[in-house]
Amino acid sequence: MTLAHSLPVLEFMSSSLPGNHNTLILNRHSPTKLGFIRPTNPKQKFNFFVSQKVKPIGFFGCNLCDSNSGFNSRQLFYECYAAQSSRIGPSSRKHKAFSIKRAKTRALNDHQLFSMGSGFYSSRQLGTSRLTSSGCKILSGGALRIPNTKSFKHSSGISGACEVNWSNHKFELRSKSVLSVDKAVERERSGGGLGSENSYDAIVIGSGIGGLVAATQLAVKGARVLVLEKYVIPGGSSGYYQRDGYTFDVGSSVMFGFSDKGNLNLITQALAAVGCEMQVIPDPTTVHFHLPNNLSVRVHREYREFIAELTDKFPHEKEGILKFYGECWKIFNALNSLELKSLEEPIYLFGQFFQKPIECLTLAYYLPQNAGDIARKYIKDPQLLSFIDAECFIVSTVNALLTPMINASMVLCDRHFGGINYPVGGVGGIAKSLAKGLIDQGSEILYKANVTSIILEQGKAVGARLSDGREYFAKTIISNATRWDTFGNLLKGERLPKEEENFQKVYVKAPSFLSIHMGVKAETLPPDTDCHHFVLENDWKKLEEPYGSIFLSIPTVLDSSLAPEGRHILHIFTTSAMEDWEGLPRKDYEAKKEIVADEIIRRLEKKLFPGLRSSIVFMEVGTPKTHRRYLARDKGTYGPMPRGTPKGLLGMPFNTTGVDSLYCVGDSCFPGQGVIAVAFSGVMCAHRVAADIGLEKKSPILDAALLRLLGWLRTLA
Ligand SMILES: Cc1cc2nc3c(=O)[nH]c(=O)nc-3n(C[C@H](O)[C@H](O)[C@H](O)COP(=O)(O)OP(=O)(O)OC[C@H]3O[C@@H](n4cnc5c(N)ncnc54)[C@H](O)[C@@H]3O)c2cc1C
Repeated sequence: MTLAHSLPVLEFMSSSLPGNHNTLILNRHSPTKLGFIRPTNPKQKFNFFVSQKVKPIGFFGCNLCDSNSGFNSRQLFYECYAAQSSRIGPSSRKHKAFSIKRAKTRALNDHQLFSMGSGFYSSRQLGTSRLTSSGCKILSGGALRIPNTKSFKHSSGISGACEVNWSNHKFELRSKSVLSVDKAVERERSGGGLGSENSYDAIVIGSGIGGLVAATQLAVKGARVLVLEKYVIPGGSSGYYQRDGYTFDVGSSVMFGFSDKGNLNLITQALAAVGCEMQVIPDPTTVHFHLPNNLSVRVHREYREFIAELTDKFPHEKEGILKFYGECWKIFNALNSLELKSLEEPIYLFGQFFQKPIECLTLAYYLPQNAGDIARKYIKDPQLLSFIDAECFIVSTVNALLTPMINASMVLCDRHFGGINYPVGGVGGIAKSLAKGLIDQGSEILYKANVTSIILEQGKAVGARLSDGREYFAKTIISNATRWDTFGNLLKGERLPKEEENFQKVYVKAPSFLSIHMGVKAETLPPDTDCHHFVLENDWKKLEEPYGSIFLSIPTVLDSSLAPEGRHILHIFTTSAMEDWEGLPRKDYEAKKEIVADEIIRRLEKKLFPGLRSSIVFMEVGTPKTHRRYLARDKGTYGPMPRGTPKGLLGMPFNTTGVDSLYCVGDSCFPGQGVIAVAFSGVMCAHRVAADIGLEKKSPILDAALLRLLGWLRTLA
């Protein structure tokens, strides 16, 4: 390829380091050939840009930048000119609007490198870089030559999921698939570790938040962990997907446990443990309820404001309101004062008990209780009790009478204590950061790794077999698949352990959900629109019915970078059962999707946003079948739900299972669904596993006694 201007001569060499990096090395002696800078492996779809300062020609500093955004689209820039290869240009509409800025510094041959904005982000030069608005991501990089010296300041740029570390003439690029399936095969063949017996301390099946927290916590304790994820990115129900310039959260978008204080900010702590910190945007309103009889309640970040609003609506119940939420605080404060670790590990448990007996007894007292019973002690107004039901439904997808008081308290207080904070760039960034942190700790994650069975040897879990036949072995196996998937699919044909029989007696799979991801014209939403909404229009009885309540999040209210300019994202979901969608011919299935979505849009138009329908510019509807497929959850279930009235959390199993060396983690483990809960489950699981593989203190005699006691307690549920 010929360039329009005399380019500095560069050679790009692409090489693979052992492990998970690709390195691009530049020097100045051979002609530039774009072909040389393709990803070495077609499976590694890079999303990066790189830049280099090369030796000045004459008086000019020369900057060359290669940008590969999305899947193999590329631009090459020299000075202010762009040279384009045949495959230049954004590969999809979401990679619009490249821009270059470039500035001279004091010395003639000393140029600050450009910055580049890709997609919908604006960017600035590093060093002086500041986000122009909370909606902007830094997407820039380069080196700055320090005047009168030969040295360069290091800088780095972050592009999408990938980090570019700059160091003069070398830099590393990480591909999105940190360790590709192919690479694993390579290492397996060369005897590099994968596949050899017990080469890992733990294999984690699934990279939901529960799995990733367990994996990273173990890695930090010194364990070698392999995460096997069926999908192409991490996160599960807290993942993301991108279409047409929009970044959509798959599921979670109200992020609990993500503040900068206390002990219950488990997501923040999990990230910090692996050296990650995310920029967040505080959400002033956790949720705006739109309820029957035109009851509208905003849950403000400030507890006092929320209580004032609620007591304003129910002045005759002021005392009851204060007492109910006051009990929630008692539990939250007790939890928040403890160092949270495995409740199945006696040395820790007794240690905490001796240090904080009152707090431990408080939690033990509330363990078998449900929020609805406690609410009824203080509150009589049926409408207010229904409001508490809606509060709990958000936590557990069941009413307050079926919601454990501990779960309710965690979220009903955390939203005021630390507040709800939205990660810049979307919720998916949390899982991506944890996955990156895991790699940084020397552990590994394999995508497109569909585990079809857990390998047992004499009743002990020793490995995992993938759908393509490959097998991996470890001292312990942790399943982040639901308990139904773990014991129903991954251990198909094995006898169901007694503990799981008990679990299945107490809990059933909650229905799945129907989701609509929408891009709409921004002007449709009033300027003061809140980020999260819960809509139940006329009839309280419909709260738990399929399609009865509508959850709506508009994350672009907080982070405009998630959508093209002038657009908002509407992420809508409502409960829906798999049975409604199975067995339909394709045409009927598609037609049904349209009908159901249409009705939801009609309801939202009526209640919240008149003219919504005509402002839609993008829409994708997901059904329970979609969620089963992409989240690998039996019947696309939202999570576990008590069969009858539960005894609080008493019946919820922890992480150990009836199979030796097999653990479960995630929302079908104590304390249940929600990101804060599964992060808790991850921390507990890592602690128990670490004790079992000798990375934490352990007392086998006490262990056996405690596990027996807990097993017996669960039978009381
Ligand atoms: C629509 C929706 C909205 C939600 N909103 C919120 C919210 O606003 N706030 C909140 O706190 N919570 C929310 N939640 C709940 C929360 O997202 C979940 O409870 C939590 O993310 C579950 O995490 P997990 O670790 O249990 O597993 P999952 O997220 O289910 O992840 C499990 C992972 O394991 C992988 N996997 C499964 N089987 C295999 C296999 N055989 N081989 C390899 N990999 C496998 C899956 O691909 C997946 O990546 C929401 C959930 C949904 C569905």
